Amino acid sequence: MRGLAVAGAAVVGFDPFTRSWAVTGSGRPLHGVPDLDGTLHTEGSPLDGAADDFGHIVHRRPAAVLRPGSVDDVVAMVRFCNERGIRVAPRGEGHATNGQAQVEGGLVVETTPLAAIGAVRPGGASGGGSVTVGAGARWSDVARAAIAHGLTPPVFTDYLELSVGGTLSVGGLGGQSHQHGAQVDTVLELDVVTGAGERLRCSPTRHRDLFLATLAGLGQCAIIVGATLRLVRAPETVRHYLLPYDDLRTFLEDQRLLAREQRFSYLEGQIAADASGAFNQYVIEAVAYGPPVGDAPDDARLLRGLRHAPAGVQTADLPYFAFLDRLAPAVAALKEAGLWAYAHPWLNLLLPGRAVLDLAGTLLDGLTPEDVGPGGVVLLYPLRREHLRTPLLRAPDDAVPYLMAVLRTAPPEDTATVDRLLAANRSAYETVRATGGTQYPVGSVPFGRADWRRHFGPAWSRFAEARRTFDPRGVLVPGQGIF
Ligand SMILES: Cc1cc2nc3c(=O)[nH]c(=O)nc-3n(C[C@H](O)[C@H](O)[C@H](O)COP(=O)(O)OP(=O)(O)OC[C@H]3O[C@@H](n4cnc5c(N)ncnc54)[C@H](O)[C@@H]3O)c2cc1C
Repeated sequence: MRGLAVAGAAVVGFDPFTRSWAVTGSGRPLHGVPDLDGTLHTEGSPLDGAADDFGHIVHRRPAAVLRPGSVDDVVAMVRFCNERGIRVAPRGEGHATNGQAQVEGGLVVETTPLAAIGAVRPGGASGGGSVTVGAGARWSDVARAAIAHGLTPPVFTDYLELSVGGTLSVGGLGGQSHQHGAQVDTVLELDVVTGAGERLRCSPTRHRDLFLATLAGLGQCAIIVGATLRLVRAPETVRHYLLPYDDLRTFLEDQRLLAREQRFSYLEGQIAADASGAFNQYVIEAVAYGPPVGDAPDDARLLRGLRHAPAGVQTADLPYFAFLDRLAPAVAALKEAGLWAYAHPWLNLLLPGRAVLDLAGTLLDGLTPEDVGPGGVVLLYPLRREHLRTPLLRAPDDAVPYLMAVLRTAPPEDTATVDRLLAANRSAYETVRATGGTQYPVGSVPFGRADWRRHFGPAWSRFAEARRTFDPRGVLVPGQGIF
């Protein structure tokens, strides 16, 4: 059914003088809100939800939230907003940590209703294939659909309940990235609505400038409404290894060796504190894919030459999806303990491999368990620069950059601690930047426009040009603070 579907009020309009929305009965009359297949909410829980995110640090209340019934709704509302200079932000699962998907007094477009997963298409000499999905599809559902056909996206984030549009707008890094790059490097085509409200398909050969400005483009040029993803063959089972290390140098050297040799299909690492609070418990997490992707895992071959502590090695054979979804039980426990609702002033950095020992050593020396918080985690693992091909995913100029993530938690009402941790994030970022490192912009590093310009470096001028072309009125995603 088409028609004006405005929940929470009869009609809604935009006041160009106060730059805010007004509702008939409480303010000004409506002019020209388009007919919609979905719903435009102007009050209540949809707005409360859109004024929060996984960080629970920033709260900016939109004037309206669109739950689109179709891509046409996104086109219509973006055009409506564009004509009136109303800011717009798409929101997937709201797992950003610093208000990136929030927009004070503007429109939030929820992508969750755009979650269709198309037919899985086998094809390609290597036995892979492709699938076209809505931007609001979660990676867990994409994985399930592909695995039913013996296929899989090549790269996953650690947590699967993130939207496809949400991770493609940042990059999407995980343990498979040392072999396949980021999720953005595995996209064949995008279906987008530009900031000017034009729906376009783009790919490496069609509207290439838009394609490159959208992948890892932090929503600045277009809203992703659909994506065609490359698939590869999926293993049926995997062997999962946890390899403990006593010292940072050996841990990093073995990670680098494994990244270079690509012995494992998945490679990450974690660092925990010992009883004294020192972050010196290093564990490589590595996974070998079984048939039909690889041979049956052979411990002797896979672990040859590694210098982990022999005691404490853990191995487990798992169905492939159980491995991908391995965080689900921990997330359930964090929710149960109330820690999922804690503030998450996260720090995500990309370190140049040539300086990783010094940088990680310095950052870990300065870290206390209180700085990480209950249920918090420290990750450190290598990538390979040659596979990171998306220009806007800014990685250090180094053959083996490392992702270092300090995934902090703090009670949300303890704003003094949150502020201290945000300042610590900034300080860590500056330490890393001084050696050619970057931030991976999913966390909470205080960042200004000059920082962004420096962050994008040689990619800045094309990015700014794409912004002028595709979002000439600059309405999209102000929460990133880039333009
Ligand atoms: C528990 C947890 C684990 C994580 N693990 C990883 C990991 O292993 N690897 C990794 O790389 N990242 C990881 N992340 C970070 C995550 O990838 C990003 O925060 C991602 O953007 C979240 O997706 P979302 O759907 O929640 O996006 P949202 O938080 O809703 O949006 C994030 C940003 O993307 C924009 N955006 C959202 N949808 C679209 C769209 N359709 N088109 C254009 N722009 C859009 C928003 O406006 C906003 O600026 C993790 C986050 C959490 C909370």
